Amino acid sequence: MRIAGIDTYILKAPLGAARFWSSQAGFDHRKALLVRVETDNGLTGWGEGGQYGPAEPVAATIHSVFAPLLLGEDPRRPEVLWERMYTHTRDFGRKGSVIEAISGIDVALWDILGQSLGAPVHALWGGAFRESVPVYATGLYYRGEHPADPGASIAAARQEARSLADHGFPAIKMKVGLLAPDQEVARVAAVRAEIGGEILLMVDANHAWPAHVAARFARRIEPYNIYWFEEPVVPEDIDGYVQVRNSSGIAIAGGECEYTRHGFRELLARGAVDIVQPDICASGGLSEARRIAALASAYNVQCFPHVWGSGVAIAAGLHFVSTLPPAPHTAAPLAPYNLPMLEWDANANPLRTDLLDPPLVPSAGKLAVPRGAGLGIRINETVLERYCQSRLTSA
Ligand code: CA
Repeated sequence: MRIAGIDTYILKAPLGAARFWSSQAGFDHRKALLVRVETDNGLTGWGEGGQYGPAEPVAATIHSVFAPLLLGEDPRRPEVLWERMYTHTRDFGRKGSVIEAISGIDVALWDILGQSLGAPVHALWGGAFRESVPVYATGLYYRGEHPADPGASIAAARQEARSLADHGFPAIKMKVGLLAPDQEVARVAAVRAEIGGEILLMVDANHAWPAHVAARFARRIEPYNIYWFEEPVVPEDIDGYVQVRNSSGIAIAGGECEYTRHGFRELLARGAVDIVQPDICASGGLSEARRIAALASAYNVQCFPHVWGSGVAIAAGLHFVSTLPPAPHTAAPLAPYNLPMLEWDANANPLRTDLLDPPLVPSAGKLAVPRGAGLGIRINETVLERYCQSRLTSA
């Protein structure tokens, strides 16, 4: 079996009135970079890469750097080809777009390996611990015409928190960091009051604050029973992470902007986080996410992957999380204390709701792990065409 072609699809889905803001940017559309690897015997593997910046440099890297390495190779060796791609780009890669490109290809190669053996990806790694995976809802961004208007922001957050709670999510993550800390404390208090005491609540600043501001904020939101504080400071500021982590009883999560086990080693070795959040489609693919999880387990740090993309990324996340053991063991593991959770982006995204046939839909706070061969997903080609802005082919 040989790799006969590699296609990339840059998908963009406009959001219209459903647009939203984080502390970093406005989102008026959702995007994804899908990678399709085709074999000479008719198998097709799907992957996704390029979660953060523009998708175009990632697609260019796939076609100009990696396709010449991969065309004609046996695709059923994802870890061998991962090593070849990584070492080939070490001198100018190691982070960012190059690793995102490796990620997208790697996920597609695991999909092909599974299909070639008639086995789901999780079976290739020794089996799944569970048939469904607990999810938490990521929402409560800043909505409306004037996202930085505190009054409007609190009213919108209350309404959305009610809706997520009514949908049965046992855990909800809200954005902070766009408003002044005083106003964010009020927003957190309003959301906690709205959802009551039983639902888990987390906050995510998307690295909006310097460490001393984030540390004070963490202490001020402690009374609202916040489970974790995500990306309190910029990813380069590992000393700042440690400062924030030592300043309150709230767990610290981070790593969605980090790449490969070498990047995560720093976060872990320096005691920066309680939870690492590698993004499978950005940090090095399924091959590398498994190494990051192994490294985290040696530090007794939890690994809950970041997911921000299409249904392909969610499917990859499901296979991955299904193979993480409960840790520490108990007679009845309970998320998130000793059972990993997967992130469920609850914002508008047609690439999540419409691209897969059938779509992945959570029920009672859980998502079923796909059972079909490979990733176990089918792409709806009509939807793919609808949102495709650019398609490049290497063959
Ligand atoms: Ca985040």
